[in-house]
Amino acid sequence: MRLQNKVALITGGGGGIGRATAELFAREGARVVVVDINQETGTETVRLVQEAGGDAFFVQADVSRAADCERMVAEAEARYGQLNVLFNNAGIMHSQDDDAVHTDEAIWDLTMAINLKGVFLGCKYGIPALRRAGGGSIINTASFVALLGAATPQIAYTASKGGVLALTRELAVVHAREGIRVNALCPGPLRTEMLMRFLDTEEKRQRRLVHIPMGRFGEAREMAYAALYLASDESSYVTGAEFVVDGGITAAYVTPE
Ligand code: NAD
Repeated sequence: MRLQNKVALITGGGGGIGRATAELFAREGARVVVVDINQETGTETVRLVQEAGGDAFFVQADVSRAADCERMVAEAEARYGQLNVLFNNAGIMHSQDDDAVHTDEAIWDLTMAINLKGVFLGCKYGIPALRRAGGGSIINTASFVALLGAATPQIAYTASKGGVLALTRELAVVHAREGIRVNALCPGPLRTEMLMRFLDTEEKRQRRLVHIPMGRFGEAREMAYAALYLASDESSYVTGAEFVVDGGITAAYVTPE
């Protein structure tokens, strides 16, 4: 029960990492606010948590909209009385996101609005709630592509995740003496809906797998365990970190055959 007596809000809670984290956080004693733009998948996560004996409820919100972010935090406090953990995890990877020449401005704007402004807005409304609770932990989902360039470009996605890292670092410093810790989770490529929809041929998958020392994609569950550590008091001296969980990708030059 590593999150006993804590309330955690998870955006993108209807999907891979968000759902696995909601289930794990609830098993560890947290009351969980599941936020997603998709009502169907979000309520399904709540059902799964409740079926396992956990406590959760759903808030439909678009993280790129300020009013929605303000409301999701207000609903969390109204229902559970406090907010201790904020997991800004919602994100998109658009199929038309490409290199600078081939990416439409609209795709750039949409990606930035959700992946980067969404994290800013979560913090804008979440930090006052964490203050009211006497401190807390913020986890922002970035990506290994914030640290490495890829010749299979997704320029808006990559730039948005680089922004998440910079934003996380500064927030960590600004709020360090208020008992609010802010860390970025940098997942490697995962076997979730988001990436597998995109890597729809064996050739595309192999193009990535060759760079992964472990030779496999990560699992949402493996990100949830990392988020659990960052959410819990066990990480009480960890702030401003780029918490890389990537099967060794960022450590590798040549990988095993
Ligand atoms: P996913 O697509 O399974 O889940 C993302 C969830 O976010 C979905 O449920 C979706 O409905 C929700 N969402 C999308 N736009 C939203 C919005 N505007 N407001 C609220 N919710 C919204 O993907 P995932 O793999 O679980 O990704 C979660 C996070 O991890 C994302 O930020 C993603 O960029 C990041 N990430 C993923 C990978 C990967 O390989 N899958 C790697 C590195 C980082």
